[in-house]
Amino acid sequence: MLISFEGIDGSGKSTQARLLAEALTAEGREVVLTREPGGSPGAEEIRRLLVEGAGERWSPETECLLFTAARRDHLERTIRPALAAGKTVITDRFADSTRVYQGAARGDLRQMVDRLHELMIGIEPDRSFVIDIDPETGLSRGRARGGAEDRFESLGLDFQRRLAAGFHALALEAPGRVRLVDGRGSQAEVAARVRTAL
Ligand code: C5P
Repeated sequence: MLISFEGIDGSGKSTQARLLAEALTAEGREVVLTREPGGSPGAEEIRRLLVEGAGERWSPETECLLFTAARRDHLERTIRPALAAGKTVITDRFADSTRVYQGAARGDLRQMVDRLHELMIGIEPDRSFVIDIDPETGLSRGRARGGAEDRFESLGLDFQRRLAAGFHALALEAPGRVRLVDGRGSQAEVAARVRTAL
């Protein structure tokens, strides 16, 4: 089973991915917890190209190709082998992040994103949880944990708002797979909501 966690920056999705991985492991499942961009040595190298450096280093199109290249490597080296071995894979971000970040919020590249996904990736998670918080909260949490640590997180409130709207639209587009989870409250409260949704 492949499960992805999605959401805007500062939503708490990484914490929730870890908590679900810990809970399923405690129940005796073999779990691989991984992340994007990254999750394999090659994809982690591509991550560095994407998140380091100031300014608009890549055009939106090039950025989309780099995210897709990273995902392809992650899929080949980490996700597919784990699924083939019967493991549960939990990934902190997957294709929905590209649909929303590159496809909706930063230039209208959704068609290109979808075509690349179909050509190069081709699978969807069994379940995708969007940890839903308001953009102001996300931004202040991001700042509290160290400010604009990479160029994406320095894009500000308007960008966070467009992302949140993009994730909401995606949940309507794919209601069977994508579930919005209320991200307010304690970590344990949100984890309980994820569990119920799963
Ligand atoms: O989730 P994480 O903070 O590790 O993601 C790294 C950065 O890459 C984030 O700031 C996120 O906004 C950005 N990102 C992106 N497009 C994606 C995935 C992540 O712009 N498809």
